[in-house]
Amino acid sequence: MSDAPSSTTIYPIRLYGDPVLRRKATPLRHTDTVQVPSFGPQTLREVAHQMLETMFEARGVGLAAPQIGLSSRLFVAVEYEDDENENEGQERPLRSRVLREFVMLNPKLTVINKKKDKAETEGCLSIPDIYEEGVPRARAVRVEYTDLDGQPQVAEAENYLARVFQHEYDHLEGKLFLDYLPASVTQEHRAALLTMQQRAKLNLERLRAALQEGHRHERL
Ligand SMILES: [Zn+2]
Repeated sequence: MSDAPSSTTIYPIRLYGDPVLRRKATPLRHTDTVQVPSFGPQTLREVAHQMLETMFEARGVGLAAPQIGLSSRLFVAVEYEDDENENEGQERPLRSRVLREFVMLNPKLTVINKKKDKAETEGCLSIPDIYEEGVPRARAVRVEYTDLDGQPQVAEAENYLARVFQHEYDHLEGKLFLDYLPASVTQEHRAALLTMQQRAKLNLERLRAALQEGHRHERL
């Protein structure tokens, strides 16, 4: 996109245990100005651009607004070209492998192939370093959404991209991939998840303190 802003600010990613990840996100309009906590007011175009930057930095395939503390129905996702050099220790930069980039406002997801696929491994930028197989996802989905120009769009996806869309859509419903797995899996990662919850709590306390500090300065 040639009109995309050139700034490359990275948003902090909210971690497992942060209540915003459990909230049902609210719809928005493409003309909305929003405020990611601790950032100034931004257009959705700016936010989407920075979400993509944040996602590339974290080497992700998708990022939903709640993951940056914004409880709005927006996610970004990318389809990458396979990296043929991946196993030779000379990875291509992620950016150069982008086949398709999606920014979806108010997505509506429809299953077009109900057959469930459990084989792929799934992870989440809000649940770092935990990857699990066994999350049942429909093989193919259709997503109707609004783009940044306010135009209605439709995207169809199968296999891995369909999984990505379902994962990101779940974030807008307050759902995480671990919810689909047996309790034994959560139990297995108990220590790591507890650490994440503690970090999430600490981050929120810091954020609150910084926001209060900011307000104090505004009043001076
Ligand atoms: Zn996720």
